[in-house]
Amino acid sequence: MSLKLENIELAFDGFCVLNRINLSVDRGEFVCLLGPSGCGKTSTLRVCAGLETPIHGRVIIDDQIVTDGSDVLPPEKRKIGFLFQDFALFPHLNVFKNVAFGLKDFPKSEIQDRVQEVLTQVRMEKYANALPHMLSGGQQQRVALARAMAPQPRIILLDEPFSGLDSGLRAEIRDQTLHILKSSNVAAVMVTHDPEEAMFMGDRIILMKDGNIVQDGTPTELYSQPVDHFAASFFGEINILKGVIKNDQAKTVLGYVPAKGFKEGEKVDVLVRPENINIQRVLDDIGTNEKAHIMAARYLGRESLLHIRLEDENANTTHLHARVDGQLLPKENESIMATMDYERAFVFRAS
Ligand code: ATP
Repeated sequence: MSLKLENIELAFDGFCVLNRINLSVDRGEFVCLLGPSGCGKTSTLRVCAGLETPIHGRVIIDDQIVTDGSDVLPPEKRKIGFLFQDFALFPHLNVFKNVAFGLKDFPKSEIQDRVQEVLTQVRMEKYANALPHMLSGGQQQRVALARAMAPQPRIILLDEPFSGLDSGLRAEIRDQTLHILKSSNVAAVMVTHDPEEAMFMGDRIILMKDGNIVQDGTPTELYSQPVDHFAASFFGEINILKGVIKNDQAKTVLGYVPAKGFKEGEKVDVLVRPENINIQRVLDDIGTNEKAHIMAARYLGRESLLHIRLEDENANTTHLHARVDGQLLPKENESIMATMDYERAFVFRAS
């Protein structure tokens, strides 16, 4: 295990920011801390770095206890690399000197080779003499990555490192960053508030809310087995259907969903993503087992977004969104047959 946080509690002015959190990251693993603004992602990273002192808990790096309550090993002694949003290259030093800056402990004879090696890794070897202002945002980011990796850190911490880049460049740089970090086998922890970025980068995602860890798992686990409403809805829009439990199933306007562990008659919410609503066109209302109509249909290219109005036997209406193949574009007010993919629906206690 490269990095371990045990029962970390952090407070500012008596306000609890991290509430006894536990996490661990293996060598070679890329872990994303994901969550809404203010949930404690950056604070967690700062505790790992030794920049914040928790009131309780331990941080362990490669079996060395580096934080034990208020006893904190300073950041520069932790062998950690940092990559933050504002790359913070030294403006008066050229690329070579920026990268060499963190190599003060390296034998002098090895510095030249190590800088060349990491600059080649990030494909910036031709820019060794350039000053930072002569480089594009993406190039500066690659130099910052080289500088972070040069001292061969045990862990690399990344805080929203791509948010200053425009979207095309961001995709390219994050892809390169991922490959470089993966090939160097370092443990990486990255803060992001973007679920798609977390799924793209992370071997594992740690979802946070209000200073707590809500769920810790692979991207597939978080997307397909969310533990609650918050986790389910953090990864994109989600439909909520009212349901009631009958014989270990939740009865909804779109049929029954298996639901173990609830009381008979209990009210539940059934959450289903728009891509897991299926529709079939019908020539007339005969054959539809519920009243479903298209309120609006929008062509989005690869897919269409359908606004659907459902009516149950008591004339209660529900508004759903479905994302279907872009070929399918029903007309407004058209009657349709709607179903859901039951295996991809999530049942939680009614909120
Ligand atoms: P964002 O995505 O907006 O950066 P975050 O999840 O990284 O948010 P943190 O920066 O860790 O959240 O902040 C968590 C909470 O701690 C917030 O309520 C923030 O206001 C508070 N906080 C962070 N740093 C300090 C500080 N130095 N002094 C007082 N409060 C702080």
